[in-house]
Amino acid sequence: MEHSLDPGLYIVATPIGNLGDITMRAVDVLRGVEAVACEDTRVTGKLMHHLGFKTRLIRYDDHAGEGDRERLLALMAEHPVALVSDAGTPLISDPGYRLVREARERGIAVTSLPGPSAAVVGMTLSGLPNDRFLFAGFLPNKAKAREDVLAELGAVRATLIFYETAPRLDAALTAIATHLPGREVSVARELTKKFEECRTGRPEDIAAHYAAHPPKGEIVLMIAPPSDAPDEALDVDALLRSELEVSKASQAAAKVAKATGLDRKTLYARALELR
Ligand code: SAM
Repeated sequence: MEHSLDPGLYIVATPIGNLGDITMRAVDVLRGVEAVACEDTRVTGKLMHHLGFKTRLIRYDDHAGEGDRERLLALMAEHPVALVSDAGTPLISDPGYRLVREARERGIAVTSLPGPSAAVVGMTLSGLPNDRFLFAGFLPNKAKAREDVLAELGAVRATLIFYETAPRLDAALTAIATHLPGREVSVARELTKKFEECRTGRPEDIAAHYAAHPPKGEIVLMIAPPSDAPDEALDVDALLRSELEVSKASQAAAKVAKATGLDRKTLYARALELR
């Protein structure tokens, strides 16, 4: 870069595995700023070592308090400061939201350098419809909270994208098979790395595969949107019958409509017949 950087906040995406994915502009900015705010100085230190320069690092992670933020804001009012996360695009399930908000409120220049984000890489690889997608961060770890999220988002006519960890994958796939029956899923693992893989299919089949081959590494978990066409494999009557054991016809129809995306009135009429 020939000219020096203006003061302000530079949000810089970094690779999610393959270091070759750093952009030329990211390298210039990380080299040219006064300091780089990062989640873990060891992780970002390694990236800098790979890039062949050493810029001052300032820790800014989930535990950062107001004092840390104030110091960074004061610095970026006078100098260029970069924000990175351990991997991928900062702020996407990573720290930075308050920093950006307050910088903007104070009239500090904020710019964002695009680069990898696991959610988008997973989405492009999955083969699931991508005209509409909804990124929803990490699925909750606790069973009830996870069910609530699946119930809430299950009716949205978009591919759902979650971040997941290997030890929790089986529970997540089982919950999807139970609460969103008939919906295809995609598991994208170790993206941009040596053992990158992406499996798309029924959650039951993917869970069976990973029961035999326990997954390692980082995971993006995606759920296909509810289908407009009736799913041949979907036994709507069985779903309605099971709900009718514990709910009134209207509630059973509403629940099955939410889970499958099918028309609630049609389901209600069928529930009345089955009752
Ligand atoms: N900000 C990051 C981004 O833009 O991708 C995401 C940070 S979030 C704390 C970390 C999660 O992202 C991991 O638990 C995993 O779900 C996902 N992730 C990150 N790198 C990945 C990779 N190489 N392959 C698959 N998933 C990845």
